[in-house]
Amino acid sequence: MKTIGMIGGMSWESTLNYYKAINQGVKSALGGLHSAKICLYSVDFAEIETLQHKGLWHDTAIHLTTAAKAVEAGGADFLLICTNTMHKVADDIQAQISIPILHIADATAEVLLADGISKVGLLGTRFTMEQDFYKQRISDNYPIEVLVPSPHEQTLIHDVIYQELCLGTINPQSRQCYLGIIDKLYEQGAEAVILGCTEIALLVQQQHTHVPLYDTTQIHANKAVMLALAK
Ligand code: GLU
Repeated sequence: MKTIGMIGGMSWESTLNYYKAINQGVKSALGGLHSAKICLYSVDFAEIETLQHKGLWHDTAIHLTTAAKAVEAGGADFLLICTNTMHKVADDIQAQISIPILHIADATAEVLLADGISKVGLLGTRFTMEQDFYKQRISDNYPIEVLVPSPHEQTLIHDVIYQELCLGTINPQSRQCYLGIIDKLYEQGAEAVILGCTEIALLVQQQHTHVPLYDTTQIHANKAVMLALAK
């Protein structure tokens, strides 16, 4: 079994789910007392979040590169950056390490493609919905069109992520707000919606809507397990 490298803590609420999903995946494949080999570096999210909201992305890359190097030195065979947003600096990190980064947008697009989805809605932080590093990576490399909510809706989604979900707060009113936005994306032609922030599945799950949801935490974790167990 290969060792899975993880940069987590962004936020730790979602890293918990990564850790659980990866261990469950290894257990269901190998049975018994088997569990995943993981080297996890968990950051202080307050430091990262401050830099994000100041637009100091280069500085976030420096922080995460330090973490990535530690994970590599700890024996990881490949690396997960356990947040969609911080894939904004994935190329900068990759340039400084030798182990491959398993990109969350690629893992997600591969599942969408296998399911025959050609038009998809994207929910995430404003950074992920507004900027090109994520949605363009999908639309440039896969035959998949990506729809995003209106700027006003993006602000609502973003604020719920940072002010509620990353703090472990689950608010039913926020769920209704998210479900309304998911319905609108569906009415605009999205065949499915990407939960493109690793905390969103804490709030919205498949049982809440008829629109197919793609949870990036679970997809990224599944891909890591596959890779770790591949011969
Ligand atoms: N975990 C979130 C994501 O997947 C947001 C927190 C962050 O900015 O890293 O984008």
